[in-house]
Amino acid sequence: MNSVGLSAVVPCYNEEASLPELYRRLTDACRLAMGDNYEIVLVDDGSMDATWGMIHSLSIEDDHIVAVKLARNHGHQIALSSGLEICRGDRILVIDADLQDPPELLQPMLKVMEDGADVVYGQRTERKGDIWFKRITAAAFYRLLDRLVETDIPKDTGDFRLMNRKVLSVLLDMPERHRYIRGMVAWAGFNQVAFPYARDERFAGETKYPLKRMLSLSADAITGFSVRPLKLASYLGFIFGAIAAMMIFYTIGQWLFFETVSGWTSLITVVLVLSSVQLLVLGVIGEYLGRLFIESKQRPMFIIDRVVVGGVESSYSARIEDRDAAKSDPLTKRAAE
Ligand code: UDP
Ligand code: MG
Repeated sequence: MNSVGLSAVVPCYNEEASLPELYRRLTDACRLAMGDNYEIVLVDDGSMDATWGMIHSLSIEDDHIVAVKLARNHGHQIALSSGLEICRGDRILVIDADLQDPPELLQPMLKVMEDGADVVYGQRTERKGDIWFKRITAAAFYRLLDRLVETDIPKDTGDFRLMNRKVLSVLLDMPERHRYIRGMVAWAGFNQVAFPYARDERFAGETKYPLKRMLSLSADAITGFSVRPLKLASYLGFIFGAIAAMMIFYTIGQWLFFETVSGWTSLITVVLVLSSVQLLVLGVIGEYLGRLFIESKQRPMFIIDRVVVGGVESSYSARIEDRDAAKSDPLTKRAAE
């Protein structure tokens, strides 16, 4: 397979304002670290602005650019997955289009990889660009996830990371549609090393992660890695069972020794508490059931409209076949196992 030394994979959604600067800085960083031996995979995730036009022209000017156009907006994690599937690098840098993660860190991250790391993940020491609400909710979420999930998913870590082909092969073998890629990489194991860095402000435009998407990513993270919320029903059952037992004694005591006309307050309280708990638990079960339903349909994870390399239409399947051929090479295969 004609592999390259490094692939940088960038999901882009309405990023026309950041793209020229991203292209310039990322190309400089790749050249500095790899010379000519790199590719940049720019995935247009169904943008509504000039993003695809720009990516397409870049691919005509520069044959290091692999331009991928998805058929519609699939969301960050899936757009990223499609780029990872298509890329051919021995080492893979995952980076956002908005320059919050400085491309210049590529070289120091490669150094850490040379020292034996399989994954070098960026860990945010500072979040310059983010408003207080995002900082607080993000911090709370990472801590909640840590308590719920058996896999050790590093805190304050996004998708900005460098990994080698061995780890990527494991990742590509995971077929799930609800993807929390940073967690899936952590789950793979191998030698993962943190790389502390200060996260910059967004170069241009606005965040594409409104609260709704953040919540849905959080739900994917938790349900993707933990079944503990399902056990909530049993825990609550125990607690309320104990309370109910005490209340039976109390009621009998009341009936034996006092007048028992009143009771409306306690009755309503019990009804309210129990019905809300039941709804909560049903909701948790629903979250898992919904995901099982989506997975059971076995639909393709993403739909690629076009892939353009060096201005020329290239077939997506050719890239995948190349990758599969490399996989059946006994050496690479053993590394992937
Ligand atoms: N993105 C994408 N599809 C989407 C939303 C976002 O490909 O539906 C890309 C976006 O262009 C950016 C990256 O995902 O490169 C991260 O998004 P963003 O910077 O808006 O998230 P934040 O840094 O605010 O969490
Ligand atoms: Mg961003």
